[in-house]
Amino acid sequence: MRRAIPWLILVVLGGLLAIAISVILNTHNPTAKVVSTQPTPKLESLAVPFPEINPKARALDIPIIMYHDVRPIKDIDWDITPKHLEKHFKTIQQKGITPITLEQLVEHLRTGSALPAKPILLSFDDNYLGEYLYAFPLLKKYHYPAVWSVHTNYVGNQVGKPKANWSQVKEMSHSGLITIASHTVNHLRLDKLSPEKVDYELQESKRVLEKQLGVAINYFTYPEGDFLDSVKDQVTKAGYQAALTMSLDEKKEGPANKSEDLLSIMRYGQSRFEEIIAKM
Ligand SMILES: [Zn+2]
Repeated sequence: MRRAIPWLILVVLGGLLAIAISVILNTHNPTAKVVSTQPTPKLESLAVPFPEINPKARALDIPIIMYHDVRPIKDIDWDITPKHLEKHFKTIQQKGITPITLEQLVEHLRTGSALPAKPILLSFDDNYLGEYLYAFPLLKKYHYPAVWSVHTNYVGNQVGKPKANWSQVKEMSHSGLITIASHTVNHLRLDKLSPEKVDYELQESKRVLEKQLGVAINYFTYPEGDFLDSVKDQVTKAGYQAALTMSLDEKKEGPANKSEDLLSIMRYGQSRFEEIIAKM
């Protein structure tokens, strides 16, 4: 019996030593360490530096269609009749194309986040009364979101082509379908203005829209699509997260994802709708 006690001590000590060695080995096993501390990737970490477009968003072509006034009888070439606009909306529906919001588009361009099938973005410029009277009811009928680019000094203006007033802009903004973007104060070509005047056009329009509508104005649309590269810094400084542009030269038009960056997102004039939609 007496000789059994040292053996028991040896067995216990051996067991303790084995446990200690196993703990030390596990602690120093680099594979185990990586697996246990791997962080869950957050969506934010997938974004590229502003204003770059994420390489993951380059493959999927997303057209933005640009509309101007909507009138029963066309006044100028880029107007569209309510009947023709509804034909566009029906085509979108029949082809299983999904109008998305500008927020969805910008998030996708930043991070490569998923979008619904065959995405498209509808945009209406210059806040024409005809857009409120004819396009807005159609958007509600089809449940399509859209972007409205509003130049603040012209809101409610009845000279020439009448513009929607503040209560109409508010109604659209609060409908949940329309994202209001700033289209400057005076709709002047930014490449012709001094940097001080550009700052005013960018900042004052944002301030007035936010005060009138009670929502954050995160997006900007260049008047006539004309701007110098230095203006992009001013757009960023004013607090915008993305900017839409346009070109009168069809060759310079393209899908949003092929744009240079988030501060010069390209669009197609509505006269090219059938041609663009045929590729989707
Ligand atoms: Zn405009």
